[in-house]
Amino acid sequence: MTAAAEPTMTTALVRGASCKCPKCGEGRLFRKYLKVADTCEVCHEEFSHHRADDMPAYIVMSIVGHIVVGGVLWAEFNYAWPAWLHLSIWLPLTVILTLGLLQPVKGFIVALQWGLKMHGFATSRQPRAVPVTVPVN
Ligand SMILES: [Zn+2]
Repeated sequence: MTAAAEPTMTTALVRGASCKCPKCGEGRLFRKYLKVADTCEVCHEEFSHHRADDMPAYIVMSIVGHIVVGGVLWAEFNYAWPAWLHLSIWLPLTVILTLGLLQPVKGFIVALQWGLKMHGFATSRQPRAVPVTVPVN
């Protein structure tokens, strides 16, 4: 794949949020739930340069916190639910939303770093020399 075939930032971010390689969109970005693969299995793009660290967790906490706290306040002020009903709805919803959002958000952050050529992505995304094969007679 040549440098001209690289995706736009929007395409890379959508691919990352879909847990796919931001470069080719076909390979998997993760080898486990939150473990980013070292390289793409299809285009061999390196992902080991990512430094997502705690950023995905902070973003997920902000999203889930707004949804759950907003829901709790809305239910409490409008219906005055008993505590057992709050706990039986909001605790599982918090767990489900958190686990469901962590991987796409981390994929988005890794794709953002890849798209902005942050950290080691700047050097790893340089065009590579094509290996020369010598025919053997
Ligand atoms: Zn790829």
